[in-house]
This record gives sequence, C-alpha cells and structure tokens, in this order.
Amino acid sequence: MKGQTGQCQCGRVTYQLNADAIMLYVCHCMGCQKQSSSAFAMSLRMNRDFDSTLKFWETLTDSGKPKVCAFCGHCGNRIFHGEGHYSATINIKPGTLNDTSWLNPKAHIWTSRAQSWVALNQDLPSCEDQPEDMARFMMNR
Ligand SMILES: [Zn+2]
Ligand SMILES: [Zn+2]
Repeated sequence: MKGQTGQCQCGRVTYQLNADAIMLYVCHCMGCQKQSSSAFAMSLRMNRDFDSTLKFWETLTDSGKPKVCAFCGHCGNRIFHGEGHYSATINIKPGTLNDTSWLNPKAHIWTSRAQSWVALNQDLPSCEDQPEDMARFMMNR
C-alpha cells in the first residue's frame, strides 16, 4: 500500500502514503455515519507524516474523546482525522484513495450503531462500541 495516492473530491488536495498502514477497520458509529453521509466509514490508520494546506475542525467521538478532522477547504471532503492536532497516528479516510481495490478491512467497530440492513462479515472481529485495545486489529496478524 506504500506509494498509494489519493485526493479529495475536487482534486485540490492530493496525498501519497509514505508507509504501510497500521490497520484498516469499518466504523458504524453515528459520527462516521454523519461524516460519510452513509451507513459507515472506513479508517486507514497511519503514522502521522502530513504537510498540507488542509482545513481543520474539532468535534467529539461517540465515546466522548476529542477528534480533530482535516478536510479540503474547497470541497469539504474529509481526508483524515486524529485524536489531536499532534497525534502520533491519524485515520485516513480511504475512500479518498485513487485505487481502493486493495482495501480489506480487518474489523468492525461500533456495531451497536450499525444500520439494520448492514450485513457484517462474521469472519472479522467486531466490537459493539469503541474497543479498549485497537492493537488486536493491526494488519499482518
Ligand atoms: Zn477538495
Ligand atoms: Zn466511527
């Protein structure tokens, strides 16, 4: 996945993954449903290495933790969010990648908020809300 490129909907913000991702999971929380304006969102966790002209706004996660959200100032497309402005890791919104064919989520979280029609892959680990320990969802395990 290293070297993969992505961009916002309008194309003014572009990025490249400079390392392999730490994990990829699907989140069904209300924040992700609002953010994606859909049923769920994916998060591709990466170490932070970001230098850009993104805009930021702050909110709280469903579990009440602060979340700093980075988006294109023109089209409003969310590119990533993280726990703080200087958090060590960020969650890239992988729908903004130019090639999404390789994405293969390893877990579902906040399944208690999943829309009733969503069929979860029973082979994947899942959590009804925010897992205490996300490490078990890491890639290459
Ligand atoms: Zn844009
Ligand atoms: Zn979520």
